[in-house]
Amino acid sequence: MASNQIQLSIIVPVKNEQSSIATFLGAVVPVCESMAKHFEIVFIDDGSTDATLGLLKDEQLRHQQIRIVKLSRNFGKEAALSAGLSVSRGDAVIPMDVDMQDPPEVLPLLYKRHLEGFDSVVAVRKTRTGDSVFKRFFAASIYRLFVWTSRDQVVPNAGDFRLLSRRVVDILNEMPERTRFMKGMFSWPGFETAYVEYERLKRSAGKSQWRFSSLWSLALDGIFNHSTLPLKIWTYCWFFGSTYGVGLHVSDRE
Ligand code: UDP
Ligand code: MG
Repeated sequence: MASNQIQLSIIVPVKNEQSSIATFLGAVVPVCESMAKHFEIVFIDDGSTDATLGLLKDEQLRHQQIRIVKLSRNFGKEAALSAGLSVSRGDAVIPMDVDMQDPPEVLPLLYKRHLEGFDSVVAVRKTRTGDSVFKRFFAASIYRLFVWTSRDQVVPNAGDFRLLSRRVVDILNEMPERTRFMKGMFSWPGFETAYVEYERLKRSAGKSQWRFSSLWSLALDGIFNHSTLPLKIWTYCWFFGSTYGVGLHVSDRE
């Protein structure tokens, strides 16, 4: 490994997060400094219309580890994460939300397990008090539906907050899926996985971008892109429909 090789990349998708960036960097930079000599924090500006981009550029003057990728419009968190993974250079890569719901003190715990030899270290929510009852219920239902329909594994109570080794990231970057449902894709490469529990807290500032409609369309993306069940259902409909049609035709002629 080259001596200035980036050891750790933090990937942070942001949309209209002007009130969260300073708090996030104030907490995350010291933690990263304690973990790795060479690290980068890659912000993906996912079509922000507030002061997010300007603030990131100001912060970049103070912290040379910051890199900024500006997307041409809002593509959604999944696409922003994908863009972040594709430009990341670290031996270990951690996607993280900017609103402090993914606590920075969990970063060293993930990294420790990685140094022990795990390619994938998933942060699992012990509690989800930071999210509303309705969101928790809806997310849990979607998870059950996904597990039921998909051949891929999705870890219960886990989001995008996790550590991925360089070889896992390289595989994810090679995957040709146009619809990037990351929670389904993360587990596809396999490899040894460890789990670290944490408490998911409330958003520190700003407003959640979460909408029922966006989670619903994410759920459909997950089911239609990671499962052949919808195709099988249509095949059965076609089979029984045409058998019934032929039956009617025959009985008409008798
Ligand atoms: N985000 C994004 N693009 C979007 C929506 C959200 O990059 O279209 C980012 C957002 O800025 C934050 C992370 O994704 O860093 C999680 O978003 P949010 O907190 O709104 O989601 P929630 O935690 O409520 O599910
Ligand atoms: Mg959040």
